[in-house]
Amino acid sequence: MIDLAPLKGSRFAVLGLARSGLAAARALRQAQVDFAVWDDDASRRSKAEEDGFSLADPSALDWNHWDALVLSPGIPHTFPRPHPAAAAARAAGKPVIGDIELLARSGPRARIVGITGTNGKSTTTALVGHILKSAGIDCEVGGNFGPAALDFRTLDADGVYVLELSSFQLELVQSLRCHVAGWLNITADHIDRHGDLAGYIAAKRHIFDNQRARDVAVVSVDDVYSRQVADALRGSSRTLVRVRIGNAADVSVVDGQLRDVREDSRLDLRPIKTLPGAHNWQNAACAWAICRALGLSAEQVVDGLASYPGLAHRQERAAVVNGIVYINDSKATNADATEKALAAYDTIYWLVGGTPKADGIAPLAPLFGRVVHAFLMGASSDAFAATLEGKVAYTRCGDLKTALMRAHEMAQRERRADAVVLLSPACASYDQWPNFEVRGDAFRAMARALPGAVVEQGGAA
Ligand code: ADP
Repeated sequence: MIDLAPLKGSRFAVLGLARSGLAAARALRQAQVDFAVWDDDASRRSKAEEDGFSLADPSALDWNHWDALVLSPGIPHTFPRPHPAAAAARAAGKPVIGDIELLARSGPRARIVGITGTNGKSTTTALVGHILKSAGIDCEVGGNFGPAALDFRTLDADGVYVLELSSFQLELVQSLRCHVAGWLNITADHIDRHGDLAGYIAAKRHIFDNQRARDVAVVSVDDVYSRQVADALRGSSRTLVRVRIGNAADVSVVDGQLRDVREDSRLDLRPIKTLPGAHNWQNAACAWAICRALGLSAEQVVDGLASYPGLAHRQERAAVVNGIVYINDSKATNADATEKALAAYDTIYWLVGGTPKADGIAPLAPLFGRVVHAFLMGASSDAFAATLEGKVAYTRCGDLKTALMRAHEMAQRERRADAVVLLSPACASYDQWPNFEVRGDAFRAMARALPGAVVEQGGAA
């Protein structure tokens, strides 16, 4: 874990004992820093007590004697209303910080890469981590996904921490310095927690705070907000690298051809099966620019991109049966994410449904022409049948297993060229599953159990 010994002498109150809060508590204990923990959930509190942590309710503390509140990113501290503990700390003039700030204050010797954006954070973070590891660089990869930052090994100066950073985490940093900061894109999200879109963007922009001369900001400028962010960074002493799906940037991707105009290198991204679709070209182009900024050679980055195994549940190639690919995109819990998957394939047997979001699948209508047949499952079946009526042939299947079997039979009977059987539900999973991971795991296992199923080398799971 991260060595927090440099924080000795300070007193921290940790609120929220899930993944990152527990990692903070463990690291503070290991370093013998003075701290207490709390969670509003009584069962988490008693578990923490069993683990030997001291409890103290930070809403009721005398804040004169504490130095900072270490808050889980999931707990509101501004909008819709501040948690009473955050209000109490602030009223006493004490900062409200997160686990990433503790990492920053520990004085890390390794370089830090931060990656943010509305979509593609996990993919790009995993991709950068994979490229670095393939090049033999000692790195730790996580943050918002994977291991919590304070569970990272303490790395030496030649190592790299690759951090996926959400807007919630970035609101809770003060002294974090990203040697390389990667910015992917902005669409309206999490407005309830940030007040408005400007607040959401302002939170994310903290990723560039504390950058110094020769640090690098990689900014993908495909949307208007991100262009404004890049423009605001111009003229600073950091190096700005603009990335774009289209011409006129430092790193651009046109029809899947990546081009770095700064050095005139080129790379065809289309053969990389684990990065399908234009959205993944954005992730790949940012990963390219980030890794080049860290000093990797073009060859090292090309090799790493080519061998990227993909992430589970994000257009994951679960199995291939007679040339037809079975794709697990269980992470697509809304129409926005499913749109990316539908756009990436031409001939789709689509497994869709679950607990629907407000807009359902109506926004996907422009892509319905790619769907051969839809296999409906879960609570959304009536609503989705109504949307598809007269546009896409569909079968009501009830559950995932039936949907997969029906899709399998039809796809194998028809054997169309480049066909995919795609689980991209555009829905949360809660009507039939504990979470999207369990749903995707079940799909993968069933697809791999089909007669003749082949698992490609280097698959995600
Ligand atoms: P995040 O960590 O930001 O949620 P992920 O890498 O887990 O992002 O991808 C989640 C989903 O978002 C993917 O399944 C895909 O549908 C979509 N996605 C991935 N990358 C991008 C991107 N660059 N732009 C838009 N959508 C994307």
